[in-house]
Amino acid sequence: MRPVEELCQALRERGLKVTPQRRLIFEALRDGAEHPTAENIHHSVQEIMPDISLATIYHTLNDLVEMGEVMELDLGEGRSRYDPCTDDHCHLVCLGCRRVLDLPPTTDGIELAAENTVGWEIVRCEVVFYGYCPNCRA
Ligand SMILES: [Zn+2]
Ligand SMILES: [Zn+2]
Repeated sequence: MRPVEELCQALRERGLKVTPQRRLIFEALRDGAEHPTAENIHHSVQEIMPDISLATIYHTLNDLVEMGEVMELDLGEGRSRYDPCTDDHCHLVCLGCRRVLDLPPTTDGIELAAENTVGWEIVRCEVVFYGYCPNCRA
């Protein structure tokens, strides 16, 4: 994700309005927990702007995803996580506390058999490891 001011500029260039609500959402994404859900962001923005709706949060997040500024992550939890880091990386998910850590990209051991991908252009690969963190194992 780009710095907040640059994001606001990019929004204006797309003809989208930069409202105080949106600015707060950007700041929450930048400063908040990694890989928050829309509900997490809603909760933190509500501390400053109690009337903001969850719909506004979703709407803004969807715009950011479309602009390629955040990545939507489906970890099979029934709700998406939003990742301000859009560089190539892997995830490590704790099944106990649902913590999600960023790992450097790895393609070790991941290989597609050429005969299975004839005619394909591969553009994206998501690698997620699930397990239990040291705290949850203790
Ligand atoms: Zn854990
Ligand atoms: Zn991530």
